[in-house]
Amino acid sequence: MVERRHTRQIHVGKVAVGGSAPITVQSMTTTKTSDVEGTLQQIYALAAAGCDIVRCTCNEIEAAEGLAQIVPRSPIPIVADIHHQYKMALAALEAGVHGLRLNPGNIRKPEHIKAVAAEAKDRNVSIRIGVNGGSLDPSLYEKYGGLTAAAMVESALREIAYFDEVGFDLIKISVKASNVPLMVDAYRELSKVTDAPLHLGVTEAGPPPAGLLKATAGIATLLLEGIGDTIRYSLTADPVEEARAGRQLLEALGLRERKNVDLIACPSCGRAEIDVIDVARRAQEAFADKLIPLQVAVMGCVVNGPGEAREADIGIAAGNKRGHLFVKGRNVAVVPESEMVEALVEWATYINEHGVEAAIARVDTTIAEREALKDRSALLDEQGDDVNHSHDRIVNIRKNIANS
Ligand code: SF4
Repeated sequence: MVERRHTRQIHVGKVAVGGSAPITVQSMTTTKTSDVEGTLQQIYALAAAGCDIVRCTCNEIEAAEGLAQIVPRSPIPIVADIHHQYKMALAALEAGVHGLRLNPGNIRKPEHIKAVAAEAKDRNVSIRIGVNGGSLDPSLYEKYGGLTAAAMVESALREIAYFDEVGFDLIKISVKASNVPLMVDAYRELSKVTDAPLHLGVTEAGPPPAGLLKATAGIATLLLEGIGDTIRYSLTADPVEEARAGRQLLEALGLRERKNVDLIACPSCGRAEIDVIDVARRAQEAFADKLIPLQVAVMGCVVNGPGEAREADIGIAAGNKRGHLFVKGRNVAVVPESEMVEALVEWATYINEHGVEAAIARVDTTIAEREALKDRSALLDEQGDDVNHSHDRIVNIRKNIANS
């Protein structure tokens, strides 16, 4: 278990961030905020994918007006993203948003910062101090001789000092950079000087898969050190992918309760009786929108599959053109190869509704066990223990070299 660093708790609408609250997933809409229906459609898709808090840009008066209509219809709290124009922050507060994100690098006049903080205080709305390595106050680049972790931390501390002047402390902080080691360093340093909740992210991580890897490297490193209270994957992709990735990372690290299927699959090898990659992909698609918090295994062969995946709640292994279904390591059914994915979904749904014992009790397992044994023996007879025919290959290699 990860021991989380102690932070104080704030709220974004009804969602708690920091303290003992579960780590939350954030994302950002890509629609024009003035497009109320389009933005709400995206927000609903994000919420279904596991997003807890969503940010919308508030860059013009039409966006603020859109927010006034989006906020009451959104299933999750809305944060308005503000750059350059402090008046847009005031307009977003008037629209009823649950949180603001301010970039200290581009709203720099103390009287503007304090005006926004005072208004947020009156309305009990939290603010994220969103430092971004790419848009620091130029005086900080100068002072630190370029972009450094210390420069980003100082940017956040300067903003906190302005907030302190008006007695506002409902804050969370981010110090994002696109360089992963720099971002990790900045958050580590920041966590030593504040107990405010931290919002983690690698900014401009880019398109998947590289973007996913960069973001995961930075966010997971910090989470495993107990640093971080809310996260966002900044991907050049459909934001639904960001929300899914965030949710899946937290589930994989045991930091959030599982909501969807955890699909495991063998990497395939010479023993595989099916195209494991294709079956796993089809299973992933079939389970994508199902709220079934089970571990499901797709294994290439009945020789090793059921044993290697015995911890899975349910799995299927291929053998002799058939799919062998197993529940918690026990063979329960045999289905034609073409129906493997459908059978997995049907059994997983049943287990989710009635439990493992009830699922096993609905069949005579001796039949499935006997058939699995038969196919396993047939495969072993056919392939032997040495599936790669290593001995014959070595003889051939030596022969070819000797003749060349
Ligand atoms: S389950 Fe079978 S096919 Fe998959 S990696 Fe293991 S031995 Fe190979």
